[in-house]
Amino acid sequence: MTQITDHLADIRRRIDTALQRSQDAGRSVTIVGVSKLKPASAVAAAATAGLTHFAENYAHEGLEKIAAVANPALHWHFIGRIQANKTQPIARGFSWVQTIDRTRIAARLDAQRPDELGPLNVLIQLNVDREPQKAGAAPDELLPLAESVAKLSRLKLRGVMGMPPAGSSPAQNRRSFLVIAEAAETLRRSGFDVDTVSMGMSGDFELAIECGSSMVRLGTALFGPRARG
Ligand SMILES: *Cc1c(COP(=O)(O)O)cnc(C)c1O
Repeated sequence: MTQITDHLADIRRRIDTALQRSQDAGRSVTIVGVSKLKPASAVAAAATAGLTHFAENYAHEGLEKIAAVANPALHWHFIGRIQANKTQPIARGFSWVQTIDRTRIAARLDAQRPDELGPLNVLIQLNVDREPQKAGAAPDELLPLAESVAKLSRLKLRGVMGMPPAGSSPAQNRRSFLVIAEAAETLRRSGFDVDTVSMGMSGDFELAIECGSSMVRLGTALFGPRARG
């Protein structure tokens, strides 16, 4: 077995245990392999081990890797900050964008999404703790932004994404995760048909699952430490 195969088996066991603790064993959790700064060969190895969702933070690096891996069965997620002048390659190259935090970017992605690729799956990124240096919509911007996204026919709103402040205590992490999960509930109660709560990274994914995550974004736990970034 390759190291990635071992890591994936260990991650799946830990996800199952966390789901049992959450007393919601019926929920399924999608593992997204965060391959930033890792070579295409690492993605290919993880795909061979059974992973089908991958994420990139930088548009240029991501598109090069998508082309190098050249596996049409894979789903690619964009999880980085979106500059307005980079929306076109993102709209064409990825099938998910998890970092929608303003209408202007959503409208550009919609206008630039080729019809033949089908709708682009999008998540609203929330900055639940209102950290000034961090991207993401403030909690009170959630519903107005969801209303705008819902009007864009080439985007499909699937849910929310977020992360606690870096270096927080487990108690603070839990508070942030519960607010993110609650935001998805708010969308459902308001009539949006959303199914995805993307939260949890290598250091905190079990807690995120206990708090309601349905999608974890794992870099280090799957691929090992990154050289930089
Ligand atoms: C890098 C990154 C991850 C993965 O981080 P790890 O701690 O290596 O699992 C997840 N989400 C986002 C938005 C990231 O930038």
